[in-house]
Amino acid sequence: MSVRVRADLDSLPAYVAGRTVPGSTKLASNEVSRGPLPSVVEAVTHAAHGVHRYPDMGATELVDSLAKHLDVATERIAVGCGSVALCQQIVQALCSPGDEVVFPWRSFEAYPILTRVAGANEVRVPLTEDHELDPDALADAITDNTRVVFVCTPNNPTATTLHERQLEEFLSRVPSDVLVVLDEAYREFVDDPQAPDGVEFTRRWDNVACLRTFSKAYGLAGLRVGYAIAPPHVAEALRKVYIPFSVNAVAQAAAVASLEAGDELERRCAEVVSERTRVRDQLLELGYRVPPTQANFVWLPLGERTGAFNEHCLNNRVVIRAFPGDGARVTVGTPEENDILLSAAASFSG
Ligand code: PMP
Repeated sequence: MSVRVRADLDSLPAYVAGRTVPGSTKLASNEVSRGPLPSVVEAVTHAAHGVHRYPDMGATELVDSLAKHLDVATERIAVGCGSVALCQQIVQALCSPGDEVVFPWRSFEAYPILTRVAGANEVRVPLTEDHELDPDALADAITDNTRVVFVCTPNNPTATTLHERQLEEFLSRVPSDVLVVLDEAYREFVDDPQAPDGVEFTRRWDNVACLRTFSKAYGLAGLRVGYAIAPPHVAEALRKVYIPFSVNAVAQAAAVASLEAGDELERRCAEVVSERTRVRDQLLELGYRVPPTQANFVWLPLGERTGAFNEHCLNNRVVIRAFPGDGARVTVGTPEENDILLSAAASFSG
């Protein structure tokens, strides 16, 4: 007899991380390509001298900086080891076995995994034919058992965003005891004036939480720190299920330094946004279908040709993220990296 592991874990889908292939350009994980700012490296070095002590469990300085930066009360903020940990904290804090979690599909791959680990039931709601979230269908999917709805905007991997008006209409259809989680991992790259600002929605709706991360625009993917703005009792529940000390001291210091470097980071985001326009335009010119993008990546709905495109990119030393049978997600990198991708895309004939 061997140790028994939960039988339902056998059928759990695996989280697939973007691959790093030595000698190839990695455009697979929606990271920013430029290394951390000197001021952030300095803060990391300084914090490294104190790592013989446990970190501040309440991440006080970071929470205070976020409160100031976003103009929200500290009691409405919870931090996590990446915003993926906050997704998990939310499901853990709100769902009991048998409860339902509604989310669009295709979307962030962690939603179904975390839902099933918590013993809750997943309800996947298809995107529209234009690869956009379908707010009416999401609202229709809510039942008496629904506790959480994840709304990923811009959506990973399709890069499309909801508009403010659509979100208002959707929220007016959601029962007040269901938490709507606006997952805004890519919010800093949004330039569509009609796109919602999740933090503003948390001020007006008592059942809305907004998730953001330091992994993408702030370039701290390797340090693992994200945050939630939520109703105070929800934020308190998220702190209760937080794995003690999981946002480490170095990550806390880097995040604080990043918030202080707002102007430089804005310039970096602007570069990504202008490159994303160039990449999308050239891909369209080459004959690819590319939905409008508001994130730091583009979505190529290649269907059955996805596998061949992925192979071709690998052969041309560029690593992208393929969703077999569906499409390919390509991160916007530096101009030089994007040129490598564009030249691979130009020679693809599959
Ligand atoms: N939400 C979305 C939509 C994402 O794409 C990701 C990362 N791929 C995350 C959350 C989690 O990011 P992190 O844990 O690095 O903050």
